[in-house]
Amino acid sequence: MQALLTVDEALAAVLERARPVPTEPLALENAAGRVLAEAARAAVDLPPFPSSAMDGFALRARDTPGTLPVVGHISAGRPAPRALAAGESMAIATGGVVPEGADAVVPIEYVVEQDNSIEIAAAVEPAASVRPRAGDIVAGEVVVEAGTRLGPAQIGALAAAGLSRVSCSCRPRAAVVTTGTELRPPGEPLAPGQIYEANGVMLAAALASAGASVEQVVSVADDQEAHRAALLRGLEADVLVTSGGVSVGPHDLVRGVAAELGVEEVFWRVAVKPGKPLSFGVRGRTLVFGLPGNPVSSLVCFELFVRPAALALQGYADPKPAFAGGRLAAPVRRNPHRDEFLRARSRAEGGDILLEPVSGQESHMIARAASADALVLAPRGEGELTAGESVRFLRLL
Ligand code: AMP
Ligand code: MG
Repeated sequence: MQALLTVDEALAAVLERARPVPTEPLALENAAGRVLAEAARAAVDLPPFPSSAMDGFALRARDTPGTLPVVGHISAGRPAPRALAAGESMAIATGGVVPEGADAVVPIEYVVEQDNSIEIAAAVEPAASVRPRAGDIVAGEVVVEAGTRLGPAQIGALAAAGLSRVSCSCRPRAAVVTTGTELRPPGEPLAPGQIYEANGVMLAAALASAGASVEQVVSVADDQEAHRAALLRGLEADVLVTSGGVSVGPHDLVRGVAAELGVEEVFWRVAVKPGKPLSFGVRGRTLVFGLPGNPVSSLVCFELFVRPAALALQGYADPKPAFAGGRLAAPVRRNPHRDEFLRARSRAEGGDILLEPVSGQESHMIARAASADALVLAPRGEGELTAGESVRFLRLL
């Protein structure tokens, strides 16, 4: 039997085929969560002028200690009334323009005020409590690099640097097709043999969290014609994700129908547990993922392959799964042939992250998986990983 692709080989095969989607200009208020398509450069120096870090008095450091007259008041948002001469001080608010001639600010707490003058007991260091012009960034420098996902800090930095619009990758369009005659929508009564359809909403939520725009979520019975119609429509998206029907049973129709519709299969089956029957193919620029039907298998395959693909489509600089390091809280038996991803709960302990696999690791146990916040990699091999052993894990969002 031909050796299965490893997780890394399969991921490389996916990422190789993910071509960035087009870009669009966006107002900053609509850009949160989007990926920047071009480096954004500061429109101004930040701060744009030397400004005070404290409420206090602007002065010359070399005039301290001593008693200085207060010759003016500088509030934030207004230019300084005039330059400061030797032996003078001016009251200044946090964010106020430090006047020419001044080289330091003494905080209000450190002076004794009387009769329009201040007494400063200790020497003030030059540059104290002054935020120099361009101390944060120089006009024209890159504030946020291309390929960065815009979180709150990046959005704040772009605004501070004077940018109201940025060029971002469009959201990849995504379609979800779940398959299985046994599936019923939650909320309806179950007939004997039926189960609730869980993967549609789960995968739609996961795609949205990866920045995709989910345009179609349908569930079809194990019927050729229903598969054909749903997949045909799904193939209009940038990413088509199916669930179920990729194993070897007589009702597993997804790969056959996808092939009929012109999807070129790149791989089928990966040395991973859960998720072995995963299939991946392309038609034109559409990436087609056939995830196994067991909900935990779908979830794991999504994190390992679909999320990275969705991020790569958006031009994300580093789309691969973001593994972190931790330690096992309990021993784990390894699978000799497949890398295994265990659902686990993480907790911080003495500078380490401890990972406790949840009880119930079978691939249908989505309710057990719901109490986990991490996927722990147990690399394939013989024997056991012992409690305390270093492992890599992915955070579940
Ligand atoms: P399959 O991959 O189609 O053989 O499905 C494997 C197992 O997952 C079966 O027990 C299915 O009933 C179950 N399953 C498939 N699709 C879903 C779904 N959308 N929601 C919940 N369970 C599913
Ligand atoms: Mg099925």
